[in-house]
Amino acid sequence: MQLTGKNYIAGETSAEGSEVFYSVDPRSKATGDLPFCSATQAEVDRAVDAAVAAFAELRNYSSNRIADFMDEIAARIDGIGDKLLHTADRETGLGLPRLTGERERTTGQIRAFASLLREGDYLRAIINSEGPGQPSVRQMQFPVGPVAIFAASNFPFAFAVPGGDTASAIAAGCPIVVKAHPGHPATSELFAIAISAAVEAQGFPAGMFSMVQGAGIDVGQWLVANDGIEAVGFTGSLRGGRAIYDAAAARPRPIPVYAEMGSVNPVLITQAALANRGDELANGLVGSITLGTGQFCTNPGLILLQNSPASQEFIASVTAKMNAAPEGVLLNAAIEQGLQSAVSQTRDNPNISILTGGEAVADSDFFCFRNTVMQTTASAIRADDALQVEHFGPVTLFVLCEDQDDLRETVNALEGNLTSTVHAEEDDLESIGDLLHQLREKAGRVIWNGFPTGVAVIPAMQHGGPYPATTAPSTTSVGMNAIYRFMRPIAFQNVPDALLPDPLKDENPLGITRLVDGVNTDGAL
Ligand code: NAP
Repeated sequence: MQLTGKNYIAGETSAEGSEVFYSVDPRSKATGDLPFCSATQAEVDRAVDAAVAAFAELRNYSSNRIADFMDEIAARIDGIGDKLLHTADRETGLGLPRLTGERERTTGQIRAFASLLREGDYLRAIINSEGPGQPSVRQMQFPVGPVAIFAASNFPFAFAVPGGDTASAIAAGCPIVVKAHPGHPATSELFAIAISAAVEAQGFPAGMFSMVQGAGIDVGQWLVANDGIEAVGFTGSLRGGRAIYDAAAARPRPIPVYAEMGSVNPVLITQAALANRGDELANGLVGSITLGTGQFCTNPGLILLQNSPASQEFIASVTAKMNAAPEGVLLNAAIEQGLQSAVSQTRDNPNISILTGGEAVADSDFFCFRNTVMQTTASAIRADDALQVEHFGPVTLFVLCEDQDDLRETVNALEGNLTSTVHAEEDDLESIGDLLHQLREKAGRVIWNGFPTGVAVIPAMQHGGPYPATTAPSTTSVGMNAIYRFMRPIAFQNVPDALLPDPLKDENPLGITRLVDGVNTDGAL
């Protein structure tokens, strides 16, 4: 697999622009040799036109055909072999063990969607028979059309070119145009080669897949503004996601944006939990805060405790462990600068104490930031929403509450998050219930006696949450339900059987489960 540094537009490589950028190794800050060419607006438009043309063909493909295509993609990703791991490691510094796991997760979720398609029930066929004063109405899910996908920097596989947004959009039956992340352009190109080859091998229309490179906001803005795009899947920062959301809303014909953004993931720890397992909690928390150098959207960034000698002791223990933990590698210069600026804005607040860290490491050979613990009061958090900002890195903020009322008011004042966590004991069950359900209102996933980092790819998983965690809290970007972001229900009223799609025909030729007049059945009518 020879890298070219070019864009992949409907099966062709293309480099018409004059703007180039390079891979940077975060461990040495050394720049790679291969120039990567940012796409021009004409190239972006060509990719979208090809996706629109592909959709006209794709809408006639069966679920099984799309499933075979997805299996081919997964096999071709496996086929890249260790080159993929080494390239990504050089561009992200995430390390081979982590990247090996992420690759399995990525191909695993592509294959899981293929299985979902073969089983067929995901089409959610609903049939209401004709009755007195009621027409015959039959509904099922259809793909929305071409989808624009924005890759994130911190998951070069699982939330990038072949990631969850790609897998769910393709499974839905949508052609895609991916804006690769400039933090890992070589890794992205390896995936583009593999997916383009799968398109050809399976005889899919070339416009099924395009990937545009770009180091700057123009490429993404052109993509979202193009009228051929019907929906956007975005994973990245609040700033970026909000800008894309606003751009999509400003189009003459607005479209939905499924932006999964940052989060502070509040963790509430009761006094009983501290008393019973303070050490274990301190170790677990430090492990979770520093995992992947804190560069997880599920990083525990806000810890709520009632003020007490035990809490002070716990904070001191976490601070000492954070201080002793080695500084990890940050992904790139933009993440390092973003973290510096977020922490320095927070520390400008007079109610913030820095317990350890709080600054960059002077003259470091690699991108990094000191492991940081900060502390404030519940009333300060309530008075200033800016203290709920995500610090994307190995940073956490302890919030001390005076009593239960103070805690309740503070939980009420929390913004939307991907997760909320409670650490409590058996004796707390009666008193903690209300708080747990208050926290439920603030997040997509509620965790009991665990840590938020780590998101299992399973059907019941919910990875989303109220704004600012996402722009679409009723959806998920992880798990099988992610497919419904890129499908929409269409109802057929009194349409003759011969003209209905197969999943809705009387005889149920696909043998799928359908909800017929309120009863789930896989039989014919
Ligand atoms: P990012 O800086 O927002 O970049 C994401 C992509 O959006 C890049 O391709 C970037 O292009 C583009 N972009 C940013 N601003 C834009 C704008 N105004 N207009 C058009 N395009 C724009 O984020 P990141 O560095 O990849 O990732 C870190 C963030 O992702 C963290 O906040 C993390 O919590 C979040 N994240 C969330 C999840 C989740 O599931 N919720 C998962 C992983 C990461 P350029 O770089 O070329 O400008």
